[in-house]
Amino acid sequence: MSDGGTTGKSGDSKTVTRPMPPRTELSQGFWDAVARGELAVQRCGACGLLRHYPQLRCPACQSAEVSWQPLAGEGEIHSYTVAHRAFHPAWKEHVPYVIATIELDEGVRMVCDLLGADPDTIAIGQRVRVRFEDLPGQGRMPRFDVVD
Ligand SMILES: [Zn+2]
Repeated sequence: MSDGGTTGKSGDSKTVTRPMPPRTELSQGFWDAVARGELAVQRCGACGLLRHYPQLRCPACQSAEVSWQPLAGEGEIHSYTVAHRAFHPAWKEHVPYVIATIELDEGVRMVCDLLGADPDTIAIGQRVRVRFEDLPGQGRMPRFDVVD
């Protein structure tokens, strides 16, 4: 699915598509959940630890037993930064924008851009909720919105 950020025509103006995370055998459960409109992370089959990003073995007990645990999709901003320069042309129109580490209520963290958030009012501890965005030609992506 990853196209590395190609340039294409959209109407009269050129648009730049965002690079997509690679979908691998290891991350397939995450993407299958996203396709259903759910956020899911790996759950260790031996000790129950939830983990993200997907890993072959549990970092706590080394077990390779794993299942996919759906999450509620809510959490808070653990940390953030405001990008004043786009690292890729697909984000150029969004500058300045927020990139946050989100701590989900189940205790796992994810990193996501928050393109709808106001860089002047963003704060650690603000509540966020997942939503799913269908990107034309690229598939469905989980995104987070501030809900304070
Ligand atoms: Zn474990």
